[in-house]
Amino acid sequence: MGFVLKNEPGQLPYLYLPGFGKDKVRAVFTTRLGGVSKGSYSSLNLGYHTGDDPDAVTTNRRFVTDALNIEEDRLITLNQIHSDRVVVLDREEDLQLKKGSNGDALITHLSNVAISILCADCQAIYLYGPCNCVIAVAHAGWRGAVAKIAASCLQEMSKVYGSKPADCYAALSPAAGACCYEVGEDVYRAIKDAFPETFRDLLEEKGNGRWFFNISQSNCTVLQDAGVLRENISISNFCTICRQDLFFSYRGSQGETGRMAAILIQ
Ligand SMILES: [Zn+2]
Repeated sequence: MGFVLKNEPGQLPYLYLPGFGKDKVRAVFTTRLGGVSKGSYSSLNLGYHTGDDPDAVTTNRRFVTDALNIEEDRLITLNQIHSDRVVVLDREEDLQLKKGSNGDALITHLSNVAISILCADCQAIYLYGPCNCVIAVAHAGWRGAVAKIAASCLQEMSKVYGSKPADCYAALSPAAGACCYEVGEDVYRAIKDAFPETFRDLLEEKGNGRWFFNISQSNCTVLQDAGVLRENISISNFCTICRQDLFFSYRGSQGETGRMAAILIQ
């Protein structure tokens, strides 16, 4: 089953993934709807680094934590740098110590913590390992897919918490779809180098030497190569470039836009 839009009168709309992790966790993806930001950031921009009014972002983040019934200081985001760096929140103190640190994935076994990745076209990966109840979110645009951040995350989950990839559940958020995500030669080469066996399935040629990248398929390949079972991987069908009524799109807006949050809570 894919992400479903929860849109009830008087409540903040958001997408969620019914039944993810056998309902032991909540996997949420915010939309651009329901916030107070203006212009290109209209309206539920959750990224402070975008050029938007920070007070508006603070208000928007409060709307989200209220809707999810989470304390504001337990919504944890990173300074995302398109790396494969994983940040582990192992102790309660880590929540405040490590929030905002450089990295592109968060792992925790703590409860009532909204671990979160911000994105606009990039894909977020949600992971749940039933062994020791560990959750993770990772930021995987083409750089994260090529860096195989999903595999780094699973390795860290195994090392720190004993997770077994074959028992883990994964979900891939809405992202730029292969329908719209045209890439240049530099990205083409990076994908070919990272996926020498399968790159032809990850790039679609649409004439005149134009190549379109299938980011979901790439991240799915990384997850499966790391040992996650295909039947335990859920993939969103939403394309953030096609659906700018619902989502911010970095490409669709020439870079000046807001950010959605992929959030995982147990
Ligand atoms: Zn599209």
